[in-house]
Amino acid sequence: MLVVMKAQATPEEIQAVCDHIVQLGFRPHPLPGAQRTAIGITGNQGEANRGNLESLSGVAEVIRVSKAYKLASRDVKEEDTVVRFAGSNASIGGRDLAVIAGPCSIETREQAFAIAAEVAAGGAQFFRGGAYKPRTSPYAFQGLGLEALKIMAEIREKFGLRIVTEALDSESLELVAEWADVIQIGARNMQNFSLLKKAGKQRKPVLIKRGMSATLEEFLMAAEYVMSEGNYEVILCERGVRTFTDHTRNTLDLSIVPALRHVSHLPILVDPSHGTGRRDSVLPMARAAVAAGADGVIVEVHNHPESALSDGPQSLYPAQFATMMTEIEKIAPVVGRHLTRGVSVSAAAGQ
Ligand code: PEP
Ligand code: MN
Repeated sequence: MLVVMKAQATPEEIQAVCDHIVQLGFRPHPLPGAQRTAIGITGNQGEANRGNLESLSGVAEVIRVSKAYKLASRDVKEEDTVVRFAGSNASIGGRDLAVIAGPCSIETREQAFAIAAEVAAGGAQFFRGGAYKPRTSPYAFQGLGLEALKIMAEIREKFGLRIVTEALDSESLELVAEWADVIQIGARNMQNFSLLKKAGKQRKPVLIKRGMSATLEEFLMAAEYVMSEGNYEVILCERGVRTFTDHTRNTLDLSIVPALRHVSHLPILVDPSHGTGRRDSVLPMARAAVAAGADGVIVEVHNHPESALSDGPQSLYPAQFATMMTEIEKIAPVVGRHLTRGVSVSAAAGQ
C-alpha cells in the first residue's frame, strides 16, 4: 500500500503518518518526490488494513500497489532516482551519464594504480575493481580481499574516483560497505536474499547485477529486498543473460533498459564487458546502451589484458576506453543526456 501525501504536507504530518503505520505493525518508507512525498508500506503479508490512514492530516490518498515490487516501482515514486556522492560531482541516474571503469580484479597495487590513472584521464568518475571474486573454479584467482579494498581507497584519495566493488558474502559485505562507495551484488548473488537484506541495512548505494536467467520481475524483486530494509539507493545493472548463442559469452539484453525505465524509478546501467565477453563487442554495445537510454556503463579496462588474472579477453585497452568515452559523449545529447568528464571533489569532504 502507498500513502500519497498532499503537496503542501508538513514534515510533522509526514512523521505522524509514519508513526501511525508503525502502530499498525508495518514499516513506513517515506520517499520524497519533486511534487509530493509518498510513503510506501511494507511488512504486510497480503492486503494491509488501511486503518484510518485516509483521515490523517496531510494525506491525499491511500493506494493499493498491485505489483509484486513496490518501493522499486514508479507507482510509488514517479521521478527517476539519482544517487549522489557527497563531496563530489559524481552521480548515477538523472541527466549525466555515469561511467564506471577498471579491471575485473585488483591484482597488484601497481596494476590498479596504472589502470586508475588511465580511466581517470579518460574521464571516468567511478573506478571498479574486484577484491572478492566469484569464480567458476575454486582454483582460479579469488581476489586480494581487504588488501584490494585498501588499494582502492588509496585510488579514491589520489584520483577522486568513487569506488565500486563486489561483496560476495556477509563478511565481505561489511568490509566493502566500510571501504568502498558502492556495494556491488553480483549476478550469481542476485537471488541471495539474506545477502540482499544485509545490503539493505547498510548505508551505501547498492549496485545489483541482473542474474543470468532473471526475469525483469525477479530483478526488481532483488532491488525490493534491499529497499525493504530502508536502503533506497539501488542501482540496476544489465550484464547479459544465458541464451543458446555462442558468438558472445552472454546475450546483452538491451531491451530490458526501456522496459525497466517504464516500471521503475531506479537508475539502470549496462555492463557490455560481461554482457559480451569480447573486447571487440564492448564499444558497439556501450554505444547502443547509451542510445537505448541507459544511465551509464560499467566496463572492464586493463593495461595488459593478455596477462590479466581474470576476464582479459573482454577488457578494453586504455586507448579503446578513451575512444568509448569520445563516442558515447557524442551519442549522449541525441538522447537528452550529457557526459561529464572527470570527478571534482570538494575540499571539505574527501569521501
Ligand atoms: C564483475 O563485475 O566483476 C562480475 C563478476 O560481474 P557479474 O556478477 O555480472 O558476473
Ligand atoms: Mn569480470
